[in-house]
Amino acid sequence: MRFEKNSEGAGDGRVDVAGVVFGGGRVPVIAGPCTVESRSQMLEIACAVKEAGASMLRGGAFKPRSSPYAFQGLCEKGLEILAEARQKTRLPVVTEALETAHLAAVAEVADMVQIGSRNMHNSVLLHAAGACGKPVLLKRGMSATIQEFLFAAEYVLEAGCPRLVLCERGIRTFETATRFTLDLNAVPLLKLRTWLPVIVDPSHGTGVKELVPAMARAAVACGADGLMIEVHGHPEEALCDGQQSETPDVFVRMLAELRAVAVAVGRTV
Ligand code: PEP
Ligand code: MN
Repeated sequence: MRFEKNSEGAGDGRVDVAGVVFGGGRVPVIAGPCTVESRSQMLEIACAVKEAGASMLRGGAFKPRSSPYAFQGLCEKGLEILAEARQKTRLPVVTEALETAHLAAVAEVADMVQIGSRNMHNSVLLHAAGACGKPVLLKRGMSATIQEFLFAAEYVLEAGCPRLVLCERGIRTFETATRFTLDLNAVPLLKLRTWLPVIVDPSHGTGVKELVPAMARAAVACGADGLMIEVHGHPEEALCDGQQSETPDVFVRMLAELRAVAVAVGRTV
């Protein structure tokens, strides 16, 4: 399997996304809103996370929503706004491709193409993403085992994509007090079984903004190669995932606390 250490063509554990390196001494933090809602919302928050010290920008243009009645994203217009935010902040952008038909448009704007949790089992999309020429961020299916996650990674690698980053984003358990259960076991386990960098998304993994800073620190402590954090200028007005989004102020404090943990494990943020 290509994901295995010492396999033919195995990478060295580092993935470079437009100059941002996952798997090196520095732990990149990807930040931004769940969803691109408007030009002013996205540009405002993009500048705020850049100022705070984020390494990359996130924001969904095509949104995979559990309810068909929820906001589905600005789609192509959202991509245009992301392109502007990217140009303004000079931060590389990661955004999700929901289906193969969107891939070319997403790959034109994005520095990294996200495959979301709900699509982790979509082998056709995995293969197409792996062939699109851009680095891929693969999120773990919310009910996927580690083995299934690694098979999904194999589809992307097998399609010719050498720049793949895995993301633990929480799994379904019997617990209902949090949105998902952030499976931090996955971090050292994946790093044992594969050469691929592993990042953690504690925003979806907890679904509770008060829990995100602590779980981000825990993720860095257990060896995560990066973080993905939802940050919104006005979480109470967010069209999606406001309850798990940090304000820029909290995000700044969170990064300061993270730095101390990173130093303790021989890294920097
Ligand atoms: C996201 O990161 O925007 C997202 C929808 O996450 P997930 O696919 O993990 O639910
Ligand atoms: Mn979200």
